[in-house]
Amino acid sequence: MPPTPTERVGTSPDATRSLPVRGYLLTILTFALTLLGAVLIAQPLSPRWFDGPGLAWAFLAALLVLGELQPLVVLHRDGTSEPLTVSSTFALSLVIIAPLGLVLLAQTLAVTLNDLWRRRDPARAAATLSRHILTLVATRTVYALASGRPLLDGGDPFTSHDLFPGALAAATFLLTGNGLIALGTAVDRRLDPVRLLLADLRAQALTSAILLGLAPVAAVLAGFSPLMLPLLALPLAGVQRNARTAARRQHDALYDGLTGLPNRTLFRLRTEQAVADTRDGPGRSAVLLLDLDHFKEVNDTLGHQVGDELLRRVAERLADGLPGTVTTARLGGDEFAVLAPRIRDTEDARTLAEQMSRLLHDPVLVDGLRLGASGSIGVAVCPDHARCVDTLLQRADIALYDAKDNRGEIRSYRPESDQHTVQRLCLLGDLHASVGTDQFEMHYQPQVRTRDGAVTSVEALIRWRHPVHGTIRPDAFIPLAESTGLIAPLTRTTVRTSLRELAALHAAGHRVGLSVNISARLLSDLDLPRWFARALHTTAVPPETVTIEVTESTLSADPRRAMQVLRELREIGLRLSIDDFGTGYSSLSYLQKLQPDEVKVDRSFVTTLRSDENNAVIVRSTIELGHGLGMSVVAEGVEDTATYRALGDLGCDLIQGYVVARPMPADTLGTWLTGAGTSGWPGQAEATGPAAGAGSAPGAGPKAGAGAGSGAEVPGPRQHPTVPAPGRVGT
Ligand code: C2E
Ligand code: CA
Ligand code: CA
Repeated sequence: MPPTPTERVGTSPDATRSLPVRGYLLTILTFALTLLGAVLIAQPLSPRWFDGPGLAWAFLAALLVLGELQPLVVLHRDGTSEPLTVSSTFALSLVIIAPLGLVLLAQTLAVTLNDLWRRRDPARAAATLSRHILTLVATRTVYALASGRPLLDGGDPFTSHDLFPGALAAATFLLTGNGLIALGTAVDRRLDPVRLLLADLRAQALTSAILLGLAPVAAVLAGFSPLMLPLLALPLAGVQRNARTAARRQHDALYDGLTGLPNRTLFRLRTEQAVADTRDGPGRSAVLLLDLDHFKEVNDTLGHQVGDELLRRVAERLADGLPGTVTTARLGGDEFAVLAPRIRDTEDARTLAEQMSRLLHDPVLVDGLRLGASGSIGVAVCPDHARCVDTLLQRADIALYDAKDNRGEIRSYRPESDQHTVQRLCLLGDLHASVGTDQFEMHYQPQVRTRDGAVTSVEALIRWRHPVHGTIRPDAFIPLAESTGLIAPLTRTTVRTSLRELAALHAAGHRVGLSVNISARLLSDLDLPRWFARALHTTAVPPETVTIEVTESTLSADPRRAMQVLRELREIGLRLSIDDFGTGYSSLSYLQKLQPDEVKVDRSFVTTLRSDENNAVIVRSTIELGHGLGMSVVAEGVEDTATYRALGDLGCDLIQGYVVARPMPADTLGTWLTGAGTSGWPGQAEATGPAAGAGSAPGAGPKAGAGAGSGAEVPGPRQHPTVPAPGRVGT
């Protein structure tokens, strides 16, 4: 159930606490009660009100009470709401034809019943009652003056002469009622009452016009015969329905459908308000952004239903557990936000963040599964960290990034992290400008076969030669390119370049395969296979020499489409490799579905293979699993001879890492390969290339006999020709 939006009648939960609001409430209550008392003394309850023409009044009064209990909620753009009731029709009709005392009594009864029924808090009930009394008295006064009728007595029927005074009365009714609401809100939140009033009038113009326009009709009908009054039920039901639909639509625009929390739009509006309130005042307001850890894995592994349920539970915990003064919103995905208006200092914000963190601490039970729901939290405070909404939100985001780097942490905004972000943003701008220029270069890192040390293939790794910052490693810009869509043109360039350079290597007699990295984004492009086929055709590279490397996370973005694209890529003849294997969560299921030709054990397991027993177990079982499924296994990130040997002992097929060579540019690679010897590409059954067995590289290490079986000693890496380390790259 979406939470009921808070009303705005100057009576938000903490409104009664502030001094100006209390003053305002006291003033209107005193006025209203004085007027009510004066009217009732001058015009005591009379039996005449319930018979003769009074019967019509009594009917209208009864409908007023009923109408009050059926509020139509008009929702404002900022998510606050206004109860507008069909009782307005009957209240105004009574003002026109009945004694003022009767109208006031009926309205008092209606409001009191409604407040009791809804268990409203007394301050709020008093505010509502006062507003109604003041509105009715003002309306009757204007009507009496305009029509020349007495102020207190009723009894005269409504005629065509009364149309103009009636219209004036309706306008007074609307302006006084809404004006008092706007004034209350303005006092409470230090806003401009006129602006609020205009916004209110705009939001409910049509509904109000119909409700008040029906008032004279009700008055005439009641005078003719009260039994005709039910005829009004139809138009009123229509108004009610309309208002409900409009309110629902407005609600959908401001609240998140899954959790019922305010959405990004509403959160922003409330933040705008909080910032406006705090900027010049003594207090502060804070924005806290929360991003759940591991949510993506939950979604990918256990399915969207479980993911959705987890989000709903988290939303509930936050909404129930945090103080009523804060706004908790879901910004999308697994990102939540909390706005804390009117806090004292940054320490308060920190305490709130810790409270959020504690609320998430206990595992959430979903579908019988205990799921951890920890998160990272970024905090930014106005005016300490920012004095405008955009900056505040942006800085909370930066703090969140900071926190995410240390999973499960709470971080407040720090200008140092900003530097980082500014650099990121500048880089992004440069990236836009440089795609398609010659600032990008491909480096290649060899992969060798443990069995005989022969080079089977090379992995193409991109380098960006930035005119100012020098060579930039892909980890610094590939994620940027992926998040902006630049990855598509970038990958096309890299693939085209590396195919061309591979063709040149083949022409020079180096029979090596090529591995290229393909990002998630591209696998949703149904045109990719055709494009690839054309590129292969243009460069005359045999498809079976090319392996595409995809990561598991790549596949979870839009699995069905990705699967289709991958299938078509393999139909062309390309090989498929699962990169960074072991870092995702759904490895096995994907392996079964995809049946790749190769898995690459992630380098985080490989580098610590010999020091961390757990990693050794992971590597060993990945190798067994891969072989069991008929795939070859590559270990990447092999940095020393001992690890190389250990992997060979475990039966790992191919090795890639600094121990063999760092990534290098194409021309260096050509020279290097001449010394190293190649042996055909990974898909080939046996080394048949011209360079096969060319193990006579200078200083070649001991070679195992071809087809070294179990028990045969695994050779260490050959002493491949040394290549000058390519500057800052490839390290
Ligand atoms: P990756 O696919 O896992 O590539 C292997 C990375 O490990 C490369 O980093 C490589 O330089 C590094 N490496 C190789 N041997 C060793 C070693 O012995 N020790 C250590 N510590 N590291 C080693 P690089 O070139 O910085 O690439 C980083 C990542 O960027 C790649 O990870 C890949 O995911 C992505 N990437 C690189 N080039 C491209 C590209 O052209 N397109 C796409 N989409 N992504 C690319
Ligand atoms: Ca790779
Ligand atoms: Ca990798």
